[in-house]
Amino acid sequence: MTIALIASVIIIMASASEEESSITPELALQKLMEGNLRYAEGNASHPHQSPERRAELISGQHPFAVILGCSDSRIPPELIFDQGLGDVFVIRTAGEVVDNASLASIEYAVEHLGVPLVMVLGHDSCGAVTAAVQGGEAEGHLGSLMDFIRPAVEQAREAGEGSDLLNGSIDNNVFNIVEALKSSQPVLSEKVEAGELMILGARYRLDSGLVEILE
Ligand SMILES: [Zn+2]
Repeated sequence: MTIALIASVIIIMASASEEESSITPELALQKLMEGNLRYAEGNASHPHQSPERRAELISGQHPFAVILGCSDSRIPPELIFDQGLGDVFVIRTAGEVVDNASLASIEYAVEHLGVPLVMVLGHDSCGAVTAAVQGGEAEGHLGSLMDFIRPAVEQAREAGEGSDLLNGSIDNNVFNIVEALKSSQPVLSEKVEAGELMILGARYRLDSGLVEILE
């Protein structure tokens, strides 16, 4: 490698690092939603997947968002937000439930990588939430997963969402996780209070491919 080439690679790496580490929560959200629109409309640009991007990232990562999503194979965050290598820090569990390992992963991204946005992403027809709505015996470790989701189902029942119990439960589950993360100590609650971190819920629509922010 020539000296000029090495210098230009260093400049590219420095500028990428500076740009992404100073991003605001609002701009991070805008980037996600713009990428989702490209994907939903069939105009995905598949950014940041080249050998050059891979080389840029050898020295470190500066993802701009954490996505806590469901393990469901239909909702891979990098695809539905049209992002690439080094862009999003992803944690996936069935029903996007949070255990200590996933909470620690989020804390790492926020504290050590400076990520300004955490999106909790539920979705239509979630199998984990459907199982919690149906109740009954859960095999193996599924029981602990159901324990986590069950309060969302109870809330939907109490709210009288009998005909739409599943959809109400899916949204409640996202809201419950968002609230738990916002009040999580240490790290997350302090960052939220300081205005350095936005934590919000969203829902992926299987038919349109669009992500809708849950208010
Ligand atoms: Zn799911």
